[in-house]
Amino acid sequence: MATKHNLTAPEFNQKSLVEEWLATYFKSDFLKVLKKHWREFVLVVFQSYDDPAHEERLANKFLLHPLEYFLCNGDPEVVFRQLKEVDQPSQLCGHVFKTGEPTYSCRECATDPTCVLCMDCFQASVHKKHRYRMSTSGGGGYCDCGDPEAWKSEVFCENHKPKTGTNNVQNSIEKLPNDLVNRSSAVLLACLGYAVQMLTWDQCDTLPDNLQPEGELSDTYLCMLFNDEVHTYEQVISTLQKAVDCTHKAAVDYATTVDREGRSAVKCGTYAECERVRGQVERNTSRHGSKALKVQVMHSAVVAHQQFALRLIQWLQNIIGQSDGLRQLFCMLSMQHETNAQSLMEMLLLADTQLWKIARVQSHQLMMAGVLMDQECKKRFSIIFTKNYSSLTRDFIQDDHYRTFSVTNITVQIFTVPSLARLLVSEHNLLSVILKTFLETCEEKKKDGKLSFERTSSPTFKRACFSLHDLKYALICKPSPGEWTDQLRRSFLEGYTYFLELLKLMEGMDAVKRQTGQHLEFEPEWEGAFNLQLKLEDNIVLFLDWCASDREVLIQSYNKTVEAFNACKNLDAIKKESCTVAGRQAECLKYDVETQPISIHLPVTRVLAGLHTYLGDHFLSFESTDCHLMRPVAADLLEFPLRVQVMVAQSNANMWRRNGYALINQIFFYHNVKCRTEMYDRDVVMLQIAASMMDNNEYLLQLIHKYKLANWTKEDFDRQTGQEDSLRQTVLLAEEFLSLLIVILGERFIAGVGEVSKEDIVRREVIHQLCISPLAHSELAKALPEDTNHETGLENVVKDVATFKKLSPATGKGRYELKPEFYAYYNPYFYHYTKGDKSKSEEMQVKRRKENNQLQALPPPVPPKFRPMFLPVMGLLQCDIMIYVIELVLARAAEVRSRSLSETQLERVLHLIGMGLHEQKRAIEEGNRQFDFLTRICTPSSLHSKAKKEPGRSIQTLLEKIMSSNNITHDSIRDLVIWTVKTITEVRQMKNEPVAMEKENAMVAPRDVKAEAARRKKQVAAEKRRMKIMAQMSAMQKNFIKENSELFENTSTELFPRIGSDMDISDAGSSSFPVAVGCKQTRPSLSPPQLATCILCQEEQEITLTSKAIVLTAFVQKSTVLSLHHGNALLNGDLFDPLFMRSDLPTGTHTSSCGHMMHAGCWQSFFDNILARERRRPLRFRHNYSHDIEKMEFLCPLCECICNTVIPVLPSVSTLGQESSVDKLQLSFADWLDGIHKTVLNSIREPGSVDSRSRLTVYEVCPLVTITRQMAGSVAQNFQALWAYMSVPTSDVSEETKEMLRKFSRDAYSFGLGVEVDDDNPRVPIMLWNTCAFSLMAIEQQLRDDGKPLFGQLSSRHSDCLRSLVQVASTYTQIVSPNQSNMHCIRLLSFLFPDSFKNKDNEPPMCILDVELFHYLVAIVMSLPSLLRGDAELLKVYQGIGSVPPPGGINHQYALQLVLAVHLIQVLLTFDQENCGMEVDGDYEGEALLILYDHIHTIANVPQQNTPLPWQLSLHVRRSMLPLLRCVALLFHYWTGIPSPAELSDVEGEMKEFDAVCKYLGVNDHMSRLLDNQGEILDSMVNRWCKNSLLKERLSAASQSVVQYPLRINKLIELPYDYSELINKVSTFTCPKSDGDDSRAPTMCLVCGQMLCSQSYCCQTEFEGVTVGAATEHAYKCGAGAGIFLRVRECQILLLAGRTKGCFVPPPYIDDYGETDQGLRRGNPLHLCKDSYAYLQKLWMSHAIPETIAHSLESNATLLTIDWQHL
Ligand SMILES: [Zn+2]
Ligand SMILES: [Zn+2]
Ligand SMILES: [Zn+2]
Ligand SMILES: [Zn+2]
Ligand SMILES: [Zn+2]
Ligand SMILES: [Zn+2]
Ligand SMILES: [Zn+2]
Repeated sequence: MATKHNLTAPEFNQKSLVEEWLATYFKSDFLKVLKKHWREFVLVVFQSYDDPAHEERLANKFLLHPLEYFLCNGDPEVVFRQLKEVDQPSQLCGHVFKTGEPTYSCRECATDPTCVLCMDCFQASVHKKHRYRMSTSGGGGYCDCGDPEAWKSEVFCENHKPKTGTNNVQNSIEKLPNDLVNRSSAVLLACLGYAVQMLTWDQCDTLPDNLQPEGELSDTYLCMLFNDEVHTYEQVISTLQKAVDCTHKAAVDYATTVDREGRSAVKCGTYAECERVRGQVERNTSRHGSKALKVQVMHSAVVAHQQFALRLIQWLQNIIGQSDGLRQLFCMLSMQHETNAQSLMEMLLLADTQLWKIARVQSHQLMMAGVLMDQECKKRFSIIFTKNYSSLTRDFIQDDHYRTFSVTNITVQIFTVPSLARLLVSEHNLLSVILKTFLETCEEKKKDGKLSFERTSSPTFKRACFSLHDLKYALICKPSPGEWTDQLRRSFLEGYTYFLELLKLMEGMDAVKRQTGQHLEFEPEWEGAFNLQLKLEDNIVLFLDWCASDREVLIQSYNKTVEAFNACKNLDAIKKESCTVAGRQAECLKYDVETQPISIHLPVTRVLAGLHTYLGDHFLSFESTDCHLMRPVAADLLEFPLRVQVMVAQSNANMWRRNGYALINQIFFYHNVKCRTEMYDRDVVMLQIAASMMDNNEYLLQLIHKYKLANWTKEDFDRQTGQEDSLRQTVLLAEEFLSLLIVILGERFIAGVGEVSKEDIVRREVIHQLCISPLAHSELAKALPEDTNHETGLENVVKDVATFKKLSPATGKGRYELKPEFYAYYNPYFYHYTKGDKSKSEEMQVKRRKENNQLQALPPPVPPKFRPMFLPVMGLLQCDIMIYVIELVLARAAEVRSRSLSETQLERVLHLIGMGLHEQKRAIEEGNRQFDFLTRICTPSSLHSKAKKEPGRSIQTLLEKIMSSNNITHDSIRDLVIWTVKTITEVRQMKNEPVAMEKENAMVAPRDVKAEAARRKKQVAAEKRRMKIMAQMSAMQKNFIKENSELFENTSTELFPRIGSDMDISDAGSSSFPVAVGCKQTRPSLSPPQLATCILCQEEQEITLTSKAIVLTAFVQKSTVLSLHHGNALLNGDLFDPLFMRSDLPTGTHTSSCGHMMHAGCWQSFFDNILARERRRPLRFRHNYSHDIEKMEFLCPLCECICNTVIPVLPSVSTLGQESSVDKLQLSFADWLDGIHKTVLNSIREPGSVDSRSRLTVYEVCPLVTITRQMAGSVAQNFQALWAYMSVPTSDVSEETKEMLRKFSRDAYSFGLGVEVDDDNPRVPIMLWNTCAFSLMAIEQQLRDDGKPLFGQLSSRHSDCLRSLVQVASTYTQIVSPNQSNMHCIRLLSFLFPDSFKNKDNEPPMCILDVELFHYLVAIVMSLPSLLRGDAELLKVYQGIGSVPPPGGINHQYALQLVLAVHLIQVLLTFDQENCGMEVDGDYEGEALLILYDHIHTIANVPQQNTPLPWQLSLHVRRSMLPLLRCVALLFHYWTGIPSPAELSDVEGEMKEFDAVCKYLGVNDHMSRLLDNQGEILDSMVNRWCKNSLLKERLSAASQSVVQYPLRINKLIELPYDYSELINKVSTFTCPKSDGDDSRAPTMCLVCGQMLCSQSYCCQTEFEGVTVGAATEHAYKCGAGAGIFLRVRECQILLLAGRTKGCFVPPPYIDDYGETDQGLRRGNPLHLCKDSYAYLQKLWMSHAIPETIAHSLESNATLLTIDWQHL
């Protein structure tokens, strides 16, 4: 954008300017001096945006060079070099990461996960051999190599290792010459001062004092548009198009600049003009109440100075990078106090949110390069930063830029340095500063003293939450005991107090009330609280760690927490009521969970629980006198966590179902691995704490009361009457209650509660996860909680307990299986199991035990010991209420019938007894006489009134009774009873109590007799039931088969099922070798009728030309898979001439089929239905399909494979007719060639020749007689006979079949060229031949690539498709378009007879190296036989003429021979001596070829470097010609139906195959014979071909486009083994369109290796009238529409097809556990998996991209919403 009048530079002399500066800089304010110069020149330099390079030149000349010369007082280059030499290289790497650059963190040595290495350092470090994590940088951070605080060990990489002897640290400023220091100080200070002033300058049309130019400011203004994160790209673009009246492209450019740099001038003009634009943009964007886009009208002079200020910031970075001394000097100056007590650095810092994006980025970089590179500077900077933390954060919250563009993001650089963090926490109250700032934002969310969130999350609160990250950084390195000072304690505790304030705001938030009657109308908001909880989790853990590391701090924080807890509990107001069970009574709080509000958020209570577990570590107790530990009231501690447990229990008993999903979700997250550590787990601990502090009986009474189970504990409960509904609830609640007891007593794998180590805890988690099922590494890792460093500790323990079993040796994917000895640790009541986990794990364990013939009981494992503080919990087991409850449940179980008992209750009680017995064993071993569970269960108790009626009843006797009862239906519970009774005996023996032996025997007996009887009875009943069901089923099945009999018999997905495989039809020629072409052709045996079954109507029918037409589903697509040069796919087919396929195969037409057939009519109505359905759909939904109906796409009705057309299936030729008297024909190759030659000569009329009025060459077949007249009599007769054959009349082909022939050719034409349908277009038959040729070639290459034999290995869907293609192509040519094909035939032939053009200019500009000969051959053999057939003369002689000529006749034989001759010349001319095989002896063929080789090279006048050896040549010729011969063999096999020789169904080596193929095709296997003695005509043709001037050009050294033979099989590009290499490669990749900018989604084409800037506006282009992304565009240019890409940052494969469709598939990179990592979330090192890459390679080669996409879209509807075309 040019301004109206260009300013020109005033006179300028650098030398005198610098001298002037030198003379004055120390006398006065240097900035003032500089401004005098800048006042004029800045406006000259920065006056246009058009030409950045020009601007840069001027800036250097007028502004920057003078500064550098002044600073150096001489040549800057020399001076800076001198400075560098005395510099001490920094031992910090400090490499600043760009977005997307790979970073590495060592999981063993890094202080925390934010400590990272750059690729270079990592490669040169020992961490490479440790366990490391790879990730990509979000931009902005730097490499920590060399920072002793970042690494626990191995601080330096090889490159940054300190050199010995250079350890004299010295102030680098002192090393600078004094005068340089003076000058630099002046420059640095002035420039920074100016930059800060100008960047923060907020007036639009005036300049600071000394910069205001003389006179009036001109009326040139700029309309400046600023970016925000509110408006979308589209909104900005459309607004600009209207307001500025510019093109879409220009608007996109503006929008891109705004997005990248933060602002862009969109209009330049007078003030009034710019104001108008501003008004319009604001009006346009402020509609619908949203915030308007920010636009400012600024004077161009102001903008110019700001541009210069920005440039100066960059320049400063460069200058201070020149020397350590300069950098230190800069730091010192920038942080020294200026006026009003602020340093320049501080001013820049505080102005952050006033700056636009690029200005921010530059200033942050200056900060990083300047002050963060040096410990001392960094320290000073962080103090300044902390001082201003609050206002910086406030600014950030109000701002709308992403965190990456905020200076607050720098916290990750300074707060994570342990020494700095310690200093800031201790001396600058960092924790309080952060928390106070956060609490301020919480104010607005407060309601009734608690936080309360709305459904729509507020962006400001979200932004405020970044402070919680800062808090984590500050806490992440906890002090070791020796590091605590009084000051640190004081400021930490102050911070902790604020933290408690925050937690108090959450305690009790989002309380819910049980809903009765009707469902909740509105689901209450619950996510906000959980989001905050998630963000706080790490902080809670870290605070607890800090508290635990110092005794004094622990005491004080404990007391503060108790106070906070007391402050928010308000329990005193609640009334009490008493609860009595078994004569024991307790006063309980009257708070009904069923009717009163309950909150799941109890962070204060939980922190208290956390702190409590540490008391033991410091030997603290409430009784100890050396501290003043406040004792909380145990009943109060119990209350809140208990309420939550009761609520969960009630919810499990279905009592809360009217509260909807909000409650279900809360309960889910409460237990989920992400939250449970600081929620559920802490609640369990709190329940244990309360149990350890309370009387055991009272504790249980409290629980029973809260669960409302007092009634259930009454002995006569069974006899009460009541509603069944409430009874069921009570039974379920009792089960829940018992399992809570199991958890409270049994869960001891908790730090501080049981005698366990960290590893023990993780190990137990792993064991229980693997008891559910074997798991892959990532699945296991996901199931475990992460610590604050995102580590699960999995790797340390998993090898002890599990073996990694590989499922597939190739990919290495595998799963961990638990080692058998660890099953003993399995606990079905493991508290982290969900209901589903529990039942799955039980099932698996029971099954395993059954298989091993063990008891099916799942008894409790032996738990670890409680730590001393928690030992009182054990008292619960033997207290009266517990014994009473156990006995109660057992007594009910022993009854014949009990209405309140469930087997689950029994199972849980047995589990409790089992735990008691384990403890009893331990007590006996330890000699602990106080614990006497055994006595309590073996002696009759007096707790039950009933017991008095049954003297001697005890738990033990009840158990024995149960064992003999028949009530138990579960084997595992019955076995658990047996286990329990056995264990009691064991324990009694341990205690030396006498146990009667007969009693032990009696134990098993009941099961054998009574139980067995009961079981048998049940079994018989079950068997009867089963038989009945079976009978019913079988009856139903019979009916079904009867009704669908046809379907059962006829459903076959194979075409020609009666023919069977290709091999089966070979009976006829089994004795002799089959020959497909020429006079020795094997007579095709008459094949049986071919049958097909329609998949739509299930009708079977014979395939003939006259019956109902049968079609095969098909998909036609353009393809570049065989292309030898990438990137030039056919884009515009309108004017393209497809007759000659270029030898490098740029774009072919591929046809494939899933092999399913139906009636043409059935298909038509099926397809019409789809169209009708589509028409009924609203317009906006039309594209939401896995297939594009506008492109005629549909899914196969049977297999849902994508299709876009159908191929008619025709009867095989052998059933149609025979060539008449072929045997009698006596025509030599030379005679044939002569006849053809004459035909061509007579059929071409060139422009300017006598009889041609056209300006184009006309190709029109001449009458046969014209040719025969020029021949000898016998030759003429034979030549004439060549065109005559008997066969079925044309009229017999049904109209329907013809229509289907037309349909397929129409589609092959339109999809193959990408053009509109046009039935009359002469190119239609060509496209049919081409797709036939191309599909055959593609199959040939696939077979070759797989190392499979040519025949016998193709799936039926492939062979059906190819057979139909070949037959359709020939039939169409003969029946539908003989005239068009004749014309093409003459044109094709004329290429080989260059003399047919009298005027050289009319010759096509091609040489024989340019044409792909298989395509050529297919076209010739399809069109040639009918060339002269319609001749009137012939019709007179032979009657019944006019149908399909049979394949493989003389015409075909000689055409093949001719084409092979041409191919031989191609091969000989392009021979390259490299890659020759083993020497073969006595090769006469080689000698003959060598003669030809010399001959041809001589004619062509091409110099031969080294004459090859004969054997080399012979080998090369056969190897190179084999692919073409293989294609021809496939062609004639499918065409003639003549069986293939057995030799070609085996892989026997190239040479044997070569001989067999030649024999099959009736071709002499001595290739030299193709050219030897074949007559004058051929010799002269060869002569002409080789003399073609283009040929020499192609072969010249400069040309690289010459195609080599054998044709190379295309592969996807090679990928590196280590994935980080790729990431590193793309980190240096920049967007090719916006110079030097990072690309957001670098995407690599796997076909050609090109890197693209995908999914970004900068690289969108117009294509076919729509905007498409770089990948879509490339897919067109490189893959003719289909593309396969690797999205490098996401580590996923992208498939694209048909512009609007795509899908992602897993990448070929896996970690050591054989798993992929899409999105690089886990960060394990990844390496290439050869097998998966081979799979992708195959997918691409077999043209399966569209099919894969359609399947994947069909199965995953969310993929349809992705805007694939913009990728
Ligand atoms: Zn580095
Ligand atoms: Zn390094
Ligand atoms: Zn390491
Ligand atoms: Zn049908
Ligand atoms: Zn199908
Ligand atoms: Zn781009
Ligand atoms: Zn490509």
